[in-house]
Amino acid sequence: MGGWKGLVREYGDWLDLRGVTDVVTLLEGNTPLLHAERLSERVGADVWLKLEGLNPTGSFKDRGMTMAITKAKSAGATTVVCGSTGNTSAAAAAYAARAGMGCVVLVPEGKIALGKLAQAIVYGAEVVQIRGNFDRALNLARELTQHMPITIVNSINPDRIEGQKTGAFELVDELGDAPDILAIPVGNAGNISAYWRGFTQYHFAKKSATLPKMWGFQAAGAAPIVLGHRVDEPETIATAIRIGNPASWVPALEAVDESHGAIRAVTDDELLDAWSFLARHESVFCEPASAASVAGLLKFGVPAGSRIVCVLTGNGLKDPDTAVSRAATPVVVDSSIEALLAHLS
Ligand SMILES: *Cc1c(COP(=O)(O)O)cnc(C)c1O
Repeated sequence: MGGWKGLVREYGDWLDLRGVTDVVTLLEGNTPLLHAERLSERVGADVWLKLEGLNPTGSFKDRGMTMAITKAKSAGATTVVCGSTGNTSAAAAAYAARAGMGCVVLVPEGKIALGKLAQAIVYGAEVVQIRGNFDRALNLARELTQHMPITIVNSINPDRIEGQKTGAFELVDELGDAPDILAIPVGNAGNISAYWRGFTQYHFAKKSATLPKMWGFQAAGAAPIVLGHRVDEPETIATAIRIGNPASWVPALEAVDESHGAIRAVTDDELLDAWSFLARHESVFCEPASAASVAGLLKFGVPAGSRIVCVLTGNGLKDPDTAVSRAATPVVVDSSIEALLAHLS
């Protein structure tokens, strides 16, 4: 039988698979690259959307998690832990369940989108809410590994970055070369680092003629890299990037410097406008955090005619509260055709 075998098997030649005996996969990767007709028109460029929300648990975190859990299992680990703004915990819970492993997830109390919490619970993880923000949850996850035999699967785990770089491979394979610009939201800054690693690896192997400029976007209330210092109380509606002290700060800056790119900030209002534009005009319902890449293009403009890929990191269904709370409650009418016609006229 043909068909996609998951990114570890498909891109095995490009990954560090030393010690791997058993691949744990949910057939992640191979996500659609959708041409953005209206957005292209609006910014005067050729814009594409990488729909990472169509991964098995609804975010790009599955790319890193198939690698991290595959490696952890091959190394004999029986339990994994992560601190998470939500999507990492959903992915960790799912892949751990698939591998028959235990999973502990530490999330900031009250600050994770409902869909993500539901996923971690339903996949059977031990979910613990921490009185503190993501940065505290990550520190605790790290500390826990000193006290019990447990493997951390946050993006400080190098296997995560390895898996995530395959997003860049898919773009080059599909477009025939790297785009001129890769636009991507930045939280813990692992993904922008991973894409850069993928692009450079492919480029040096002559699979692409060019390298893209890396354009990262943080939420204005959680923009440590833009500000150049840690943010102790990060705040944004985009919970997936509500991070004040990114673990991959240094590699992210390297990616930006080497590619002549930039990391800039967009406000929550700009982010929500872009999020709404994507749904209404491109029919893509992504997470608020994912829209940071598009908000950045709309805010700062782009070189005319350039080819741009926006990475839409997560699925909009993850965060129904934000969607519903921003909309008027749908009208209620009597169950008669007269009432319906009266309302619609
Ligand atoms: C994790 C996440 C991000 C941020 O990615 P980093 O690698 O932490 O920079 C952005 N959007 C979504 C939906 C995420 O889940």
